[in-house]
Amino acid sequence: MKKLHLLLPVLIQLATAIQPSARDPLPNQQLRDLKWGQLNFLHTTDNHGWHAGHLQEPQYSADFGDYISFVKHMRRLADEKEADLVVVDTGDRAEGNGLWDASDPKGNYTRNFYHKLDIDVITNGNHELYNKTTAQNEFDEMIPYYNGKYVASHKLVTKNLGLKITSFGFLFNFTGNYNNTRVKAPSVVIKEDWFHEAISDKDVDLFMVIGHIDVEDHELSMVLAAIREINPDVPVQIFGGHSHLRKFVQYDDKSTALESGRYFETVGFLSIDGLATKAKKAAPKLNFFRRYIDANRVGYQHHTGTNEDTFDTPEGLEMSTELTKYRAELGLDRLIGCAPQDWSLNKDMYGSPNNWYTFLEETVLPKVVTNKDRHDIPRIIFINTGSQRFDVFKGPFTYDTSFLVSPFTSKFRFTPNVPWEYASQLREYFEDDSNPYFHTLGGPEREGPRPQALKSNSFRVNQRQQNVLVNGAPSTIVPGYTTCDDFGNDGDDTVHSRIIWHFAPKVIQGNASFPDGWETSPPEAVDVVFMDFIGWNVAAGLNEISGNDSYRAVDFQPYMGEEDTMTKLLLDYVEKEWRHDCV
Ligand SMILES: [Zn+2]
Ligand SMILES: [Zn+2]
Repeated sequence: MKKLHLLLPVLIQLATAIQPSARDPLPNQQLRDLKWGQLNFLHTTDNHGWHAGHLQEPQYSADFGDYISFVKHMRRLADEKEADLVVVDTGDRAEGNGLWDASDPKGNYTRNFYHKLDIDVITNGNHELYNKTTAQNEFDEMIPYYNGKYVASHKLVTKNLGLKITSFGFLFNFTGNYNNTRVKAPSVVIKEDWFHEAISDKDVDLFMVIGHIDVEDHELSMVLAAIREINPDVPVQIFGGHSHLRKFVQYDDKSTALESGRYFETVGFLSIDGLATKAKKAAPKLNFFRRYIDANRVGYQHHTGTNEDTFDTPEGLEMSTELTKYRAELGLDRLIGCAPQDWSLNKDMYGSPNNWYTFLEETVLPKVVTNKDRHDIPRIIFINTGSQRFDVFKGPFTYDTSFLVSPFTSKFRFTPNVPWEYASQLREYFEDDSNPYFHTLGGPEREGPRPQALKSNSFRVNQRQQNVLVNGAPSTIVPGYTTCDDFGNDGDDTVHSRIIWHFAPKVIQGNASFPDGWETSPPEAVDVVFMDFIGWNVAAGLNEISGNDSYRAVDFQPYMGEEDTMTKLLLDYVEKEWRHDCV
């Protein structure tokens, strides 16, 4: 009977906090606590517009309003403990969710409601810089608002302990930015006078580097080395982003780096103890602690000692209500069709019936990528797997879902009459290509761990569950993050069962309008159709395979209309091919 009493307030709260169609995670999951230090941090990164939370995944269902309440309670706790809390975000707030992508201009709501978060330091990622208007609006609406907290470089003094922190913002050596912006690589910045001057300041208790850079990337080590050259003993705390993974690295005994996943699934917590303060000498050894918090209300309440009655703050509730309103204005819940099954990007092996890429190349691409004048000409259609961002769940596929799955505005281009001998080798060329082509050509991050960094294990959570006994009491374990990092495998705040991650190829290929029996007698020539994002790679590949220099990306012609982005083609497909009464 006791449980029923507990459930009641949860149901009442659903009307006001988190989004109306979202659900709290399954009860009785085993949580690991936070360990507070003198200096504590909350870190988010690569939210990619998911500020309304994950409506179909209860484990990550907290929205931005819930986060605002969480931050407020954490600040109160810091005061009570006479400790300090610093809240940071390392960029890629843009692109990947209808809440950002469906507004005009893109990100219109997000930039404004982000201002309501009490944040200490913030920087941008690559996704704030691809698009001309987005970059301009970031400059006009975000940078002035944060008045120095949007770093390049910023000095802050913490509230309770008076620690002096100098922070720097960095972005990896990114070259896909729109030409109204300029990106300076870390290797360049660390040689500049202003940087040298800032790190020569002796009146600093801790340097903080917030970078939209993978914490295992050498660019961050380079920044640390530059600081260490002048400051061998000052603690340096780094926060990274861009890999979309949960990661934690210890560089030396006074320096660590945390990276807090993606899509508003994870809030990173980091604490440092043993720092010298006005009242206290430095401990012989600094103690670092990290925790990856699953972004849901149950965890937020657990870590702040609150409950359904005491957790929500007026600011948080107001934000949740505003988000519901914005989503309604954008028509994000509009039903387009009903997905007949689950498909995953990496949870199911490429080639299996539940793999989204396999479904795209075998079924969707041949059907939707067409040109009425060339429809009968055999064509191979390439899209880079990085263009697909999220799993599809059985049930309602809404206007919003199209942005979650395929948010990019790339168009289809083609080159006609490519000898089959060349075209048929392209796919292998892409896989073998050593060019770092997901970053330097200005595309989305490639999802998933790289072979040399196979430490974290990303995935999505489904509703399958196990009940196990933990310390004699029944506990629910759902599949989720089981991260292994430099401090071991107990960093996740929720105990999960592991999900296996399968690699996807770089590029997938759909074949269309091929004659019967083409496998034994292939056509002499085909149209090679591709997302413009990989046009440069197609040209390079065809040149290398054919042994001449006749293919140039600038010569490639549109295959479909400007409006025919993958997002739109997917919407058209779902509308036409799937049922409209989801059961
Ligand atoms: Zn990102
Ligand atoms: Zn990024």
